[in-house]
Amino acid sequence: MNVTTLPKPPRVGLVSLGCPKALVDSERIMTKLRADGYDMSPDYAGADVVLVNTCGFLDSAKEESLEAIGEAIAENGRVVVTGCMGKEADVIRNRFPDVLAVTGPQQYEEVVAAVHEAAPPVPSPFIDLVPEAGLKLTPRHYSYLKISEGCNHRCAFCIIPHLRGDLVSRRPDAILREAEKLVAAGTRELLVISQDTSAYGVDIRHQPRLWKGEEVRAHMTDLSRELGKLGGASGSVWVRLHYVYPYPHVNDVIPLMADGLVLPYLDIPFQHASPRVLRAMRRPANDAKVLERIRSWREQVPGLAIRSSFVVGFPGETDEDVAYLLAWLEEARLDRVGAFKFEAVDGAPATSMAEQVPEDTKQERYEAVMALSARISAEKLAAKVGSTVDVLIDRVDEETGGATGRSKADAPEIDGEVHLRDAGGLQPGDIVPARVEDSDEHDLYGVPL
Ligand code: SF4
Repeated sequence: MNVTTLPKPPRVGLVSLGCPKALVDSERIMTKLRADGYDMSPDYAGADVVLVNTCGFLDSAKEESLEAIGEAIAENGRVVVTGCMGKEADVIRNRFPDVLAVTGPQQYEEVVAAVHEAAPPVPSPFIDLVPEAGLKLTPRHYSYLKISEGCNHRCAFCIIPHLRGDLVSRRPDAILREAEKLVAAGTRELLVISQDTSAYGVDIRHQPRLWKGEEVRAHMTDLSRELGKLGGASGSVWVRLHYVYPYPHVNDVIPLMADGLVLPYLDIPFQHASPRVLRAMRRPANDAKVLERIRSWREQVPGLAIRSSFVVGFPGETDEDVAYLLAWLEEARLDRVGAFKFEAVDGAPATSMAEQVPEDTKQERYEAVMALSARISAEKLAAKVGSTVDVLIDRVDEETGGATGRSKADAPEIDGEVHLRDAGGLQPGDIVPARVEDSDEHDLYGVPL
């Protein structure tokens, strides 16, 4: 009898740092490497080469990236670096002369070629198998869907356009094809990400492409509608929009939420409310009428959840600006708020601005924003006690018979959770109605119906 002995595939270890967009990059790279016959290694010891996907957004993230590279060198020794920090190859090479290769963000071909060189693939028809949706690093039931890369804005605190370049939108049919595959492979929630989702398609003049016999424009509204249709009549796929700037055409997406095609959820990075600070930050869609628009959106979609992030301590920010921000937050009553203290980033214009705010003042302002936001969040969640919400199950606890998931108002990793008791028989990826029994500042507690 002839027995084919399969060659042992080379194994790649992965350290993925940074934001969801970097995670999508890691997924793409690993998908390609899997297609080329590589295995993944869960530890340094078993890896033939370790890939470190770095983040270079803030100085603290850069330091974390450098530490991760150092650890990989110490533990394994054969290291390829990619991602945002790859733009600073000199810094990396000076500190770690032994790294095998340094490639920048979105340089998929280069990073894959570097891995090939470090640990040559062993072609085999028996192991060159890629799952339908590619190899994913997120759980199977939710997936990030990157619709564009780069950004046309030049916010004073940000170096992303410098790192990633101007906006480059993907074709709508390519995005929809990827989304359809993800859904076929078990995804129940599509998280649409980009640097500026509202600007999608601007660079390609919203050029339409054929999708299922119909023209679909490279436009946020068309794309959201078509993604929403992927769940069929039951609406069993959640479509969640992240990084939405409140340009006027966002109004057109609200009816899609009212129709159940898109989740009633908007992640809008407002960053501040004071017009003076917003101008200094050079923020896009810096519209004084935002509060009015939020009110109108909520009239159309009463359950609309809005999450946002805010930066305090931007150079020149005064006590009056912070008072303005707090009053604005009190009125806007956003559902989820993340606050950050301004951090000077090497290369960002704000770093060299006069009137830098002292650290202890930043801390006080940060605490004021967080305390107010926590109170508003607790009040809004308490108002849900007694109601029924749909919950997408993320994990189950066999021992307690409980399960944890998220409502339509909760994005994974960044928002709250719903903790269910007596949830035996549920599986990750199930969407179930649940009665809310209790709440705290961030989470809901309930029971499946
Ligand atoms: S919109 Fe501003 S903060 Fe966001 S990526 Fe573009 S430049 Fe950076």
